Amino acid sequence: MDQTSITASDLRQMLAFVGEAITKEEARLNALDAAIGDGDHGITMRVGFNAIHTRVSSLPATAGIDAVLREAGVAFMGGTGGAIGVLFGKMLIAAGAALKGHLEIAPAEFKLLLDSMETSLATAGKAKPGDKTMLDAVHAAHQAVLELGNSQPELAMLLAHTSQAARVAAESTAGMLARAGRASRLGDRALGHPDPGAVSFSIVLGAMAEWTQRNFLRTR
Ligand SMILES: [Mg+2]
Repeated sequence: MDQTSITASDLRQMLAFVGEAITKEEARLNALDAAIGDGDHGITMRVGFNAIHTRVSSLPATAGIDAVLREAGVAFMGGTGGAIGVLFGKMLIAAGAALKGHLEIAPAEFKLLLDSMETSLATAGKAKPGDKTMLDAVHAAHQAVLELGNSQPELAMLLAHTSQAARVAAESTAGMLARAGRASRLGDRALGHPDPGAVSFSIVLGAMAEWTQRNFLRTR
């Protein structure tokens, strides 16, 4: 009984669970976006995860975690419009490339995943931590893993730890001025409102942590 890693089959179920979590938060994400953007962020995320579900469901059972992540990214990008579709899609594609040939996501692979996602998002989004974007949540999650150093908690605990860091970071974006993306035109009118993308990413990691908690507690 190995409860320390996520297989490709687990990843497919996990993505479906994350999609349900995002769908439940659609109205809240739209409202957050309406405060500093055009109010469609929840719709975009729901549509993107629906596209992921359709694509991933049609993959052969032999598809590895790298292929599942890559195809999820391609589907998200193709199914949605706007900056977030490209940025979120590219992050998943980058994660797939980083995990090429790996058979499971154990703590070491989870580190690679966050590292590749942060690099992808910072490059494609031309953003830095503190710019009030999704990157703030991704960066915080990645830093939380790096700060653990050589202490290696099991994956469920690692996910809980990083999702908490992402959630705190997403909330902290409310106090930031936007320096990238559409909200940067708002100046200090963006203050008091968290970045919807950062909140989305924290929901994604939170759902991954919850899925892992539920399924790893079960005897496999
Ligand atoms: Mg929008």
